[in-house]
Amino acid sequence: MKWLNFAFMSVNLQTPIDYLKGVGPNRAELLRKELGIHTYQDLINLFPNRYLDRTTYYKINQLQQNSAEVQVIGQIIKFEEVAQKRGKRLVATFQDDTGTMELVWFRGHKWIRENLKRNTPYVVFGKTNWFNGKFSMPHPDMELLKDHEKSLQSAMQPIYPSTEKLTNKGISNRVLIKIIQQLFTETKGQFTETLSPELLENLHLVSKSQALFNVHFPQNQELLTKAQYRLKFEELFYIQLQLILKNLIHKSKIKGLPFHHVGDYFNTFFNTHLPFELTQAQKRVLKEIRTDLGSQAQMNRLLQGDVGSGKTIVAFMSMLMALDNGFQACLMAPTEILSVQHYNGLIEWCNKLNISIKILTGSSNTSERKEIHENLENGQLQILIGTHALLEDTVKFKNLGLAIIDEQHRFGVAQRSKLWHKGPNQNPEKALAQNAVPPHILIMTATPIPRTLAMSVYGDLDISLIDELPPGRQAIKTVHRYDKNRLKVFRFIRDEIEKGRQIYVVYPLIQESEKMDYKDLMDGYASIERDFPKPKYQISIVHGKMKAADKDYEMQRFVKGETQIMVATTVIEVGVNVPNASVMVIESAERFGLSQLHQLRGRVGRGAEQSYCILMTSHKLSNDSKTRLETMVRTNDGFEIAEVDLKLRGPGDIMGTQQSGVLNLKIADLIKDNDILKSARYYAKQILNNDPSLSSPSNKAILNTYRQMAKYRNIWNYIS
Ligand code: ADP
Ligand code: MG
Repeated sequence: MKWLNFAFMSVNLQTPIDYLKGVGPNRAELLRKELGIHTYQDLINLFPNRYLDRTTYYKINQLQQNSAEVQVIGQIIKFEEVAQKRGKRLVATFQDDTGTMELVWFRGHKWIRENLKRNTPYVVFGKTNWFNGKFSMPHPDMELLKDHEKSLQSAMQPIYPSTEKLTNKGISNRVLIKIIQQLFTETKGQFTETLSPELLENLHLVSKSQALFNVHFPQNQELLTKAQYRLKFEELFYIQLQLILKNLIHKSKIKGLPFHHVGDYFNTFFNTHLPFELTQAQKRVLKEIRTDLGSQAQMNRLLQGDVGSGKTIVAFMSMLMALDNGFQACLMAPTEILSVQHYNGLIEWCNKLNISIKILTGSSNTSERKEIHENLENGQLQILIGTHALLEDTVKFKNLGLAIIDEQHRFGVAQRSKLWHKGPNQNPEKALAQNAVPPHILIMTATPIPRTLAMSVYGDLDISLIDELPPGRQAIKTVHRYDKNRLKVFRFIRDEIEKGRQIYVVYPLIQESEKMDYKDLMDGYASIERDFPKPKYQISIVHGKMKAADKDYEMQRFVKGETQIMVATTVIEVGVNVPNASVMVIESAERFGLSQLHQLRGRVGRGAEQSYCILMTSHKLSNDSKTRLETMVRTNDGFEIAEVDLKLRGPGDIMGTQQSGVLNLKIADLIKDNDILKSARYYAKQILNNDPSLSSPSNKAILNTYRQMAKYRNIWNYIS
């Protein structure tokens, strides 16, 4: 790396890629389109996917039939054209002192015959096939041995991300390497340091220039590891820095509605109407929320709690805090069934406290709506429950103090932010939503988000955790049964019904094959009806094609215990609460994702009785399906399940595209680099604690980089 000693002359890394020697307008266009590379900076951050070890040379008699990439030194002794079904292939016999193999080309014969020399030592590189009793290497990478020995190429050859189009248009991996080498030549390998001297020293990190050089052209594995570590740390560090800064700015800038006191509603409920003793976790979370609401800043809190952990009462008691301070509150749930259930649960408590509460959903009729709108605006209505119908512009609150979103993963970020504008106006003269003081926001989710993801995606939110189930719950027993054992399963169901329990039978609903799913459901229903005949057995059925009122009717029959079996599609997945239901049968369980299976299972085990979850599948199972089923049988721990899910599906799928935008990582991997992430978060926090404005001279590099990033790649867009 002799050029590192040259005088520093900075090249602007924002220079368009077109200006790099060897690129030009056509290649630049391809790089932009195919790899999103617009500038020098983008190119330098195109990190190799993997590296090939080019330190080992194989003899032909050492080759193995495993089709790995190998390199061999030898000479071409003859060319031959062989006719095949369509066209011809060109075959060269390649020889070393231990034997011969074939090099094969299906295209470009003329050029090859004219340019490749016979009886001259070459290094060939590629994948070998075992074919007709011989090893052959199709379209090998070839270099004259004398050039190979001279070339500066590192021992470990980088393999860059590519696309078919790039390769077809002549931007091969080798060309990419050349272009990147050119970039190092033009910049003399000098890149502005982006981390502070303290960080480099404390964490024993290599410099930015060293890291970039070694990630592209590693001299050995050790230097590569150091380079990767540094770049991963840097990437995660700046994400954490931005998230934490956003959170700090939020707290200092966004004024919250002051909830000064805990009043009658809360105290009366707590002292006389509490239906059960709160768990320690519920109490702790309520305190955290109370602290937020009493502070000057707007609350923006995520409440995570596994299914059945008792989030609803925490939500209700938080609403009481709002009401005690003269504000209104609302609770938004993703489905009509769930809204109705919340409403039915909360109205009992509200009646005891003399609180007005209403529900608004897609099926509320005009006169109901009219009344709700009026009473919301004049402040007579204190609590509104509902689906995303709450987000409609016509829904205006007099003074909304707290908005709660249940099962947040069902809502997009846009919907979250819509609630922000439903707060009371600061300046009543200008009745503009922009003038509104945002209500406090509490987001509840039962989808356990692995810590690593939560840190990255919700780093801007404060997180509360209910990590304890109410007492007396027994762990749900989960088993996997094949379809052919159905009769046994039915017998088991009959016994449970005999004991007075209720049963869910759930069928998958996947939109693309809705018709088929519907048929499966109806066939299943018919067979259950046969085995569980009326009048002894009563069955409810709920699916997406039914009218809301019918769904509700069927649901209510089950809730009241009039039916023993509920046959349903996944509409019951979220939140539904029937404590007497103790068996969950999931049909075609292999078609469900892990988090969905866990959610469904969470519908049972809500009472004091032993509950069961039975996963029914056919015999044909993919490896992933097997892993999912085994995981479900092994554990009830939502976080463990979420970790497995993350490994199977990757973060993008779990968070939905909108929220995974921020996870568009170039080098770090949230699962594998968990420890680096923790360290990055730790240092980002520590630095901002000591120097919130990043104004100390030692943090200069960080401030500059941060500003630069804010200018060119604003991650805030993804997450607000
Ligand atoms: P989730 O967190 O899944 O929304 P819920 O709020 O629906 O859970 O609560 C699940 C069940 O547990 C409900 O029947 C609720 O009344 C009950 N529950 C909640 N907290 C407690 C507690 N501290 N002690 C006993 N039962 C509780
Ligand atoms: Mg719930």
